[in-house]
Amino acid sequence: MFARLRAANPNPTTELAWSSPFELLVAVILSAQMTDKGVNAATAKLFPVANTPRAIAALGLDGLLPYLRTINFCNTKAANVLATCAALLERHGGEVPRDREALESLPGVGRKTANVVLNTVFREPAMAVDTHIFRVSNRTGLAPGEDVREVEERLLKVVPAEFLLDAHHWLILHGRYVCKARTPECWRCGIRDLCAWRPKTPDPAATLPPPRPKAPARTAARAARRRPTPETGS
Ligand code: SF4
Repeated sequence: MFARLRAANPNPTTELAWSSPFELLVAVILSAQMTDKGVNAATAKLFPVANTPRAIAALGLDGLLPYLRTINFCNTKAANVLATCAALLERHGGEVPRDREALESLPGVGRKTANVVLNTVFREPAMAVDTHIFRVSNRTGLAPGEDVREVEERLLKVVPAEFLLDAHHWLILHGRYVCKARTPECWRCGIRDLCAWRPKTPDPAATLPPPRPKAPARTAARAARRRPTPETGS
């Protein structure tokens, strides 16, 4: 399964825009209940102005909120970002720590966010199970589980070592673009024959009714008979 996902996309990565560990941390805090595109639109304006804990702390709530107006739960997230900036400055010299416990102690940072940072920034084999990974792991039978923690632990056991670093991104992207929540696009799925999900979604193009034959063109004679003439006016 992973050999095929790798062949299709050899260098998968997050679709969040970031250029430093701190930027990624802020982007992930903002990303709950948001698309990556929506987060990127906000951070594209924020980061050129402030992209360090000190600079964002200096903005304060009133200065930060206008950049986050398009982000869901912007008030809570702004407060978390500011509290995280303060904690990073107080406890970590303004740096993002490479340590799960320290990351999870930051406001607005849960296990999933810590896993994204550990994996994407520090290249540790952490598995950030989001809604896409949870769905793909269960549908395919790769790592079924009742909750995200169970799926995370199973994935860490079953994914072969050579794929562990990038497995999280391959599964997210597969869930986002192919194995979609409402209708998995099985007909164009590269791991279709390895997946336990039944029944597979058929190709909509193959199930369309055949096109109706076109009505024969009216003959010139019929057309002429029906065409009103200047004499009759009918
Ligand atoms: S075959 Fe269908 S259900 Fe299975 S992984 Fe592919 S898209 Fe998802």
